[in-house]
Amino acid sequence: VENLIDNFQRRVNYLRISLTDRCNLRCIYCMPEGGIPKLPHDEILRYEELLRLVKVAQTLGIEKVRLTGGEPLLRRGLVSFIRALSELGLRDISITTNGTLLEGCAKELKAAGLTRLNISLDTLRPERFGSIAGLDLLNDALAGIEAAEAAGFDPIKINVVAMAGLNDDEILDFGRLSIERPYRIRFIELMPIGEQAGWRPERYLSCDEIKAKLRTLGRLYALGSRKSFDGPARRFRFRGAAGEIGLINPISRHFCPSCNRLRITADGRLRACLFSDHEVDIKQALRSGLSDDDLRAVFRQAIAAKPARHPRLVPGGPIRKCQRQMSQIGG
Ligand code: SAM
Ligand code: SF4
Repeated sequence: VENLIDNFQRRVNYLRISLTDRCNLRCIYCMPEGGIPKLPHDEILRYEELLRLVKVAQTLGIEKVRLTGGEPLLRRGLVSFIRALSELGLRDISITTNGTLLEGCAKELKAAGLTRLNISLDTLRPERFGSIAGLDLLNDALAGIEAAEAAGFDPIKINVVAMAGLNDDEILDFGRLSIERPYRIRFIELMPIGEQAGWRPERYLSCDEIKAKLRTLGRLYALGSRKSFDGPARRFRFRGAAGEIGLINPISRHFCPSCNRLRITADGRLRACLFSDHEVDIKQALRSGLSDDDLRAVFRQAIAAKPARHPRLVPGGPIRKCQRQMSQIGG
Protein backbone atom coordinates (compact mmCIF):
# COMPACT_ATOMS: atom_id res chain seq x y z
CA VAL A 1 0.00 0.00 0.00
CA GLU A 2 1.24 3.40 -1.02
CA ASN A 3 0.40 6.36 1.19
CA LEU A 4 -1.22 9.46 -0.17
CA ILE A 5 0.91 12.25 1.22
CA ASP A 6 0.21 15.80 0.17
CA ASN A 7 2.67 18.61 -0.41
CA PHE A 8 2.52 19.53 3.26
CA GLN A 9 3.32 16.07 4.63
CA ARG A 10 -0.24 15.32 5.61
CA ARG A 11 -1.22 11.69 5.14
CA VAL A 12 -4.67 11.42 3.65
CA ASN A 13 -6.44 8.28 4.90
CA TYR A 14 -10.05 9.41 5.15
CA LEU A 15 -12.51 9.53 2.27
CA ARG A 16 -15.89 11.22 2.53
CA ILE A 17 -18.35 10.18 -0.11
CA SER A 18 -21.45 12.18 -0.94
CA LEU A 19 -24.03 9.60 -2.01
CA THR A 20 -26.66 12.01 -3.21
CA ASP A 21 -27.29 15.73 -3.61
CA ARG A 22 -30.94 15.24 -2.56
CA CYS A 23 -32.35 15.87 0.84
CA ASN A 24 -35.70 15.69 2.58
CA LEU A 25 -34.82 18.79 4.63
CA ARG A 26 -33.84 22.34 3.66
CA CYS A 27 -31.52 23.54 6.40
CA ILE A 28 -31.06 27.27 6.01
CA TYR A 29 -27.26 27.14 6.05
CA CYS A 30 -27.05 24.29 3.58
CA MET A 31 -29.66 24.73 0.87
CA PRO A 32 -31.11 27.77 -0.83
CA GLU A 33 -34.84 28.10 -0.09
CA GLY A 34 -36.02 26.74 -3.40
CA GLY A 35 -33.64 23.79 -3.22
CA ILE A 36 -31.01 23.23 -5.88
CA PRO A 37 -31.51 21.74 -9.33
CA LYS A 38 -31.29 17.99 -8.91
CA LEU A 39 -28.51 16.16 -10.63
CA PRO A 40 -29.73 13.83 -13.37
CA HIS A 41 -29.59 10.20 -12.29
CA ASP A 42 -26.72 9.18 -14.52
CA GLU A 43 -24.57 12.04 -13.25
CA ILE A 44 -24.46 10.37 -9.83
CA LEU A 45 -21.79 7.75 -9.25
CA ARG A 46 -23.23 4.25 -9.15
CA TYR A 47 -22.48 1.95 -6.23
CA GLU A 48 -20.24 -0.29 -8.39
CA GLU A 49 -18.28 2.77 -9.41
CA LEU A 50 -17.92 3.89 -5.83
CA LEU A 51 -16.77 0.44 -4.74
CA ARG A 52 -14.11 0.45 -7.42
CA LEU A 53 -12.92 3.89 -6.34
CA VAL A 54 -12.79 2.87 -2.70
CA LYS A 55 -10.75 -0.24 -3.58
CA VAL A 56 -8.29 1.84 -5.56
CA ALA A 57 -8.19 4.41 -2.75
CA GLN A 58 -7.37 1.64 -0.28
CA THR A 59 -4.23 0.85 -2.24
CA LEU A 60 -3.32 4.50 -1.62
CA GLY A 61 -3.80 4.24 2.13
CA ILE A 62 -7.46 5.19 2.57
CA GLU A 63 -8.67 3.37 5.71
CA LYS A 64 -11.82 5.21 6.70
CA VAL A 65 -14.91 6.08 4.71
CA ARG A 66 -17.76 8.37 5.65
CA LEU A 67 -21.01 8.46 3.71
CA THR A 68 -22.80 11.75 3.52
CA GLY A 69 -24.87 13.89 1.15
CA GLY A 70 -27.48 15.43 0.79
CA GLU A 71 -29.26 12.92 2.93
CA PRO A 72 -27.52 9.55 2.46
CA LEU A 73 -30.46 7.56 3.84
CA LEU A 74 -32.49 8.70 0.83
CA ARG A 75 -30.32 6.68 -1.49
CA ARG A 76 -31.84 3.34 -2.39
CA GLY A 77 -29.78 0.23 -1.81
CA LEU A 78 -27.74 1.85 0.93
CA VAL A 79 -27.76 -1.16 3.24
CA SER A 80 -26.39 -3.47 0.55
CA PHE A 81 -23.78 -0.89 -0.38
CA ILE A 82 -22.61 -0.70 3.22
CA ARG A 83 -22.45 -4.49 3.34
CA ALA A 84 -20.27 -4.47 0.23
CA LEU A 85 -18.08 -1.74 1.68
CA SER A 86 -17.67 -3.64 4.91
CA GLU A 87 -16.26 -6.58 2.96
CA LEU A 88 -13.37 -4.42 1.80
CA GLY A 89 -11.66 -4.47 5.18
CA LEU A 90 -11.83 -0.75 5.96
CA ARG A 91 -11.04 0.32 9.49
CA ASP A 92 -14.14 2.44 9.77
CA ILE A 93 -17.38 3.06 7.85
CA SER A 94 -19.48 5.92 9.15
CA ILE A 95 -22.40 8.01 8.03
CA THR A 96 -23.62 11.55 8.61
CA THR A 97 -27.40 11.82 8.56
CA ASN A 98 -30.19 14.14 9.63
CA GLY A 99 -31.67 11.09 11.35
CA THR A 100 -35.23 11.60 10.14
CA LEU A 101 -35.23 8.31 8.21
CA LEU A 102 -33.12 6.37 10.65
CA GLU A 103 -35.81 4.78 12.75
CA GLY A 104 -36.67 2.23 10.11
CA CYS A 105 -33.14 1.20 9.24
CA ALA A 106 -30.77 1.71 12.17
CA LYS A 107 -30.63 -2.00 12.98
CA GLU A 108 -30.07 -3.03 9.39
CA LEU A 109 -27.31 -0.47 9.00
CA LYS A 110 -25.57 -1.81 12.07
CA ALA A 111 -25.90 -5.40 10.87
CA ALA A 112 -24.54 -4.43 7.46
CA GLY A 113 -21.32 -3.22 9.05
CA LEU A 114 -21.78 0.50 9.62
CA THR A 115 -19.41 1.29 12.49
CA ARG A 116 -20.38 4.82 13.48
CA LEU A 117 -22.96 7.46 12.85
CA ASN A 118 -23.33 11.19 13.34
CA ILE A 119 -26.74 12.73 13.53
CA SER A 120 -27.26 16.41 12.79
CA LEU A 121 -29.76 18.16 15.03
CA ASP A 122 -29.83 21.91 15.59
CA THR A 123 -32.86 22.29 17.83
CA LEU A 124 -34.85 20.33 20.38
CA ARG A 125 -37.87 22.58 20.00
CA PRO A 126 -40.72 21.35 17.80
CA GLU A 127 -41.85 24.85 16.86
CA ARG A 128 -38.35 25.76 15.75
CA PHE A 129 -37.25 22.72 13.80
CA GLY A 130 -39.18 23.76 10.71
CA SER A 131 -37.72 27.24 10.60
CA ILE A 132 -34.16 25.89 10.68
CA ALA A 133 -34.56 22.65 8.73
CA GLY A 134 -37.48 23.56 6.46
CA LEU A 135 -39.85 20.77 7.56
CA ASP A 136 -41.36 19.84 10.90
CA LEU A 137 -39.62 16.53 11.36
CA LEU A 138 -38.22 16.86 14.87
CA ASN A 139 -40.06 13.78 16.11
CA ASP A 140 -38.65 11.68 13.30
CA ALA A 141 -35.14 12.91 14.08
CA LEU A 142 -35.56 12.11 17.77
CA ALA A 143 -36.97 8.68 16.94
CA GLY A 144 -33.93 8.15 14.73
CA ILE A 145 -31.57 8.93 17.58
CA GLU A 146 -33.39 6.50 19.87
CA ALA A 147 -33.32 3.82 17.22
CA ALA A 148 -29.58 4.31 16.73
CA GLU A 149 -29.05 3.89 20.44
CA ALA A 150 -31.27 0.80 20.54
CA ALA A 151 -29.36 -0.69 17.61
CA GLY A 152 -26.19 -0.44 19.67
CA PHE A 153 -24.34 2.41 17.96
CA ASP A 154 -21.81 3.76 20.40
CA PRO A 155 -20.86 6.53 20.61
CA ILE A 156 -23.79 8.48 19.22
CA LYS A 157 -22.59 11.83 18.00
CA ILE A 158 -25.01 14.67 17.57
CA ASN A 159 -23.83 17.62 15.47
CA VAL A 160 -25.27 21.01 16.32
CA VAL A 161 -24.60 24.06 14.17
CA ALA A 162 -24.90 26.86 16.72
CA MET A 163 -26.16 30.14 15.31
CA ALA A 164 -26.69 33.50 16.92
CA GLY A 165 -30.35 34.47 17.04
CA LEU A 166 -31.52 31.07 15.81
CA ASN A 167 -30.65 28.41 18.36
CA ASP A 168 -28.02 29.91 20.68
CA ASP A 169 -30.64 29.94 23.43
CA GLU A 170 -30.55 26.13 23.28
CA ILE A 171 -26.84 25.68 23.89
CA LEU A 172 -27.50 24.95 27.55
CA ASP A 173 -30.31 22.52 26.69
CA PHE A 174 -27.89 20.59 24.52
CA GLY A 175 -25.32 20.82 27.30
CA ARG A 176 -27.84 19.27 29.69
CA LEU A 177 -28.60 16.57 27.17
CA SER A 178 -24.91 15.59 27.27
CA ILE A 179 -25.23 15.22 31.03
CA GLU A 180 -28.37 13.11 30.94
CA ARG A 181 -27.80 10.95 27.89
CA PRO A 182 -24.69 9.12 26.65
CA TYR A 183 -24.43 11.36 23.58
CA ARG A 184 -21.51 13.30 22.26
CA ILE A 185 -22.95 16.70 21.53
CA ARG A 186 -20.66 18.41 19.05
CA PHE A 187 -21.06 22.10 18.35
CA ILE A 188 -19.92 23.16 14.92
CA GLU A 189 -19.28 26.70 13.80
CA LEU A 190 -21.41 27.96 10.96
CA MET A 191 -19.37 27.94 7.77
CA PRO A 192 -19.61 30.14 4.69
CA ILE A 193 -20.43 27.42 2.19
CA GLY A 194 -22.70 27.81 -0.81
CA GLU A 195 -23.46 30.97 -2.68
CA GLN A 196 -27.15 31.27 -1.96
CA ALA A 197 -27.51 29.38 1.30
CA GLY A 198 -28.02 31.08 4.61
CA TRP A 199 -24.57 32.32 5.52
CA ARG A 200 -24.81 35.60 7.41
CA PRO A 201 -21.76 36.76 9.29
CA GLU A 202 -24.00 37.93 12.14
CA ARG A 203 -25.24 34.37 12.63
CA TYR A 204 -21.74 33.06 13.18
CA LEU A 205 -20.90 32.02 16.75
CA SER A 206 -17.37 31.00 17.66
CA CYS A 207 -16.68 27.93 19.75
CA ASP A 208 -15.19 30.20 22.40
CA GLU A 209 -18.54 31.93 22.73
CA ILE A 210 -20.31 28.57 22.82
CA LYS A 211 -17.92 27.30 25.47
CA ALA A 212 -18.43 30.40 27.59
CA LYS A 213 -22.18 29.78 27.56
CA LEU A 214 -21.72 26.10 28.42
CA ARG A 215 -19.54 27.01 31.38
CA THR A 216 -22.50 28.65 33.05
CA LEU A 217 -23.82 25.08 33.47
CA GLY A 218 -20.72 23.86 35.27
CA ARG A 219 -17.04 23.20 34.81
CA LEU A 220 -15.98 21.51 31.57
CA TYR A 221 -13.23 18.91 31.92
CA ALA A 222 -11.02 18.41 28.87
CA LEU A 223 -10.83 14.87 27.47
CA GLY A 224 -8.62 13.05 25.00
CA SER A 225 -6.14 14.59 22.67
CA ARG A 226 -6.79 16.44 19.49
CA LYS A 227 -4.34 14.27 17.62
CA SER A 228 -6.16 11.05 18.39
CA PHE A 229 -8.71 9.25 16.26
CA ASP A 230 -11.32 11.83 17.26
CA GLY A 231 -10.73 14.09 14.34
CA PRO A 232 -11.03 17.81 14.74
CA ALA A 233 -13.27 17.91 17.84
CA ARG A 234 -11.92 19.19 21.14
CA ARG A 235 -13.68 17.07 23.73
CA PHE A 236 -15.02 17.99 27.16
CA ARG A 237 -17.32 16.60 29.80
CA PHE A 238 -19.38 18.01 32.62
CA ARG A 239 -18.77 16.33 35.96
CA GLY A 240 -20.70 13.07 36.20
CA ALA A 241 -22.15 13.41 32.68
CA ALA A 242 -23.31 10.38 30.72
CA GLY A 243 -22.13 11.98 27.50
CA GLU A 244 -19.66 14.56 26.22
CA ILE A 245 -19.33 17.91 24.56
CA GLY A 246 -17.26 18.40 21.43
CA LEU A 247 -16.24 21.72 19.93
CA ILE A 248 -15.42 21.84 16.25
CA ASN A 249 -14.13 25.16 15.07
CA PRO A 250 -13.25 25.20 11.41
CA ILE A 251 -13.36 28.99 11.35
CA SER A 252 -11.89 30.26 14.60
CA ARG A 253 -9.06 27.69 14.88
CA HIS A 254 -8.58 26.07 11.56
CA PHE A 255 -7.60 22.42 11.75
CA CYS A 256 -6.06 22.40 8.30
CA PRO A 257 -2.58 21.33 9.54
CA SER A 258 -3.97 17.95 10.60
CA CYS A 259 -6.53 17.53 7.82
CA ASN A 260 -6.50 13.94 6.52
CA ARG A 261 -9.55 14.16 4.28
CA LEU A 262 -10.46 13.75 0.69
CA ARG A 263 -14.00 14.10 -0.64
CA ILE A 264 -15.94 12.64 -3.55
CA THR A 265 -18.97 14.65 -4.58
CA ALA A 266 -22.15 12.85 -5.62
CA ASP A 267 -21.38 13.71 -9.24
CA GLY A 268 -17.93 12.21 -9.10
CA ARG A 269 -15.50 15.03 -8.45
CA LEU A 270 -12.58 14.66 -6.07
CA ARG A 271 -12.27 17.60 -3.74
CA ALA A 272 -9.21 17.80 -1.56
CA CYS A 273 -10.40 20.74 0.53
CA LEU A 274 -13.90 21.58 1.66
CA PHE A 275 -13.23 25.28 1.16
CA SER A 276 -11.39 25.18 -2.13
CA ASP A 277 -13.30 25.06 -5.38
CA HIS A 278 -10.57 22.98 -6.97
CA GLU A 279 -12.01 19.66 -8.17
CA VAL A 280 -10.79 16.75 -10.27
CA ASP A 281 -13.28 14.84 -12.39
CA ILE A 282 -12.85 11.18 -11.45
CA LYS A 283 -16.20 10.12 -12.88
CA GLN A 284 -15.01 11.00 -16.34
CA ALA A 285 -11.85 9.02 -15.66
CA LEU A 286 -13.84 6.01 -14.46
CA ARG A 287 -16.28 6.08 -17.33
CA SER A 288 -13.63 6.43 -19.98
CA GLY A 289 -12.30 3.03 -18.97
CA LEU A 290 -9.07 4.01 -17.24
CA SER A 291 -6.99 1.37 -15.46
CA ASP A 292 -6.54 1.26 -11.70
CA ASP A 293 -3.07 2.75 -12.19
CA ASP A 294 -4.53 5.66 -14.10
CA LEU A 295 -7.17 6.16 -11.40
CA ARG A 296 -4.42 6.22 -8.79
CA ALA A 297 -2.83 9.01 -10.78
CA VAL A 298 -6.12 10.95 -10.66
CA PHE A 299 -6.21 10.57 -6.87
CA ARG A 300 -2.62 11.82 -6.64
CA GLN A 301 -3.50 14.76 -8.86
CA ALA A 302 -6.31 15.77 -6.50
CA ILE A 303 -4.06 15.43 -3.46
CA ALA A 304 -1.34 17.50 -5.10
CA ALA A 305 -3.80 20.40 -5.15
CA LYS A 306 -4.71 20.15 -1.47
CA PRO A 307 -3.96 23.61 -0.10
CA ALA A 308 -1.96 24.04 3.10
CA ARG A 309 -4.90 25.81 4.61
CA HIS A 310 -7.68 27.78 3.23
CA PRO A 311 -7.05 31.49 2.67
CA ARG A 312 -10.71 32.22 3.38
CA LEU A 313 -10.13 31.01 6.91
CA VAL A 314 -7.33 33.38 7.82
CA PRO A 315 -8.43 34.62 11.24
CA GLY A 316 -9.93 38.06 10.86
CA GLY A 317 -9.61 37.89 7.08
CA PRO A 318 -12.46 38.26 4.67
CA ILE A 319 -14.75 35.27 4.42
CA ARG A 320 -15.87 34.37 0.94
CA LYS A 321 -18.37 31.75 -0.01
CA CYS A 322 -17.68 28.52 -1.87
CA GLN A 323 -19.30 27.94 -5.21
CA ARG A 324 -20.94 24.64 -4.32
CA GLN A 325 -23.67 24.07 -1.80
CA MET A 326 -22.83 21.95 1.22
CA SER A 327 -25.52 19.48 0.15
CA GLN A 328 -23.53 18.95 -3.04
CA ILE A 329 -20.18 18.49 -1.40
CA GLY A 330 -21.29 16.48 1.58
CA GLY A 331 -20.00 18.43 4.57
N1 SAM B 1 -27.93 15.41 5.51
C1 SAM B 1 -26.92 14.93 6.39
C2 SAM B 1 -26.90 15.72 7.67
O1 SAM B 1 -27.51 16.79 7.71
O2 SAM B 1 -26.25 15.26 8.60
C3 SAM B 1 -25.52 14.88 5.78
C4 SAM B 1 -25.09 16.04 4.92
S1 SAM B 1 -24.89 17.60 5.76
C5 SAM B 1 -24.34 18.61 4.41
C6 SAM B 1 -23.44 17.29 6.74
C7 SAM B 1 -23.23 18.22 7.88
O3 SAM B 1 -22.88 19.49 7.38
C8 SAM B 1 -24.41 18.43 8.81
O4 SAM B 1 -24.00 18.17 10.14
C9 SAM B 1 -24.74 19.89 8.65
O5 SAM B 1 -25.21 20.45 9.84
C10 SAM B 1 -23.41 20.45 8.25
N2 SAM B 1 -23.48 21.72 7.54
C11 SAM B 1 -24.13 21.98 6.38
N3 SAM B 1 -23.97 23.27 6.02
C12 SAM B 1 -23.21 23.83 6.97
C13 SAM B 1 -22.68 25.15 7.17
N4 SAM B 1 -22.91 26.14 6.31
N5 SAM B 1 -21.93 25.38 8.29
C14 SAM B 1 -21.69 24.39 9.17
N6 SAM B 1 -22.14 23.14 9.03
C15 SAM B 1 -22.89 22.86 7.95
FE1 SF4 C 1 -30.17 18.19 4.22
FE2 SF4 C 1 -28.11 17.74 5.83
FE3 SF4 C 1 -28.17 19.90 4.24
FE4 SF4 C 1 -29.84 19.77 6.27
S1 SF4 C 1 -27.59 19.82 6.39
S2 SF4 C 1 -30.37 20.39 4.15
S3 SF4 C 1 -30.28 17.65 6.37
S4 SF4 C 1 -28.06 17.83 3.57
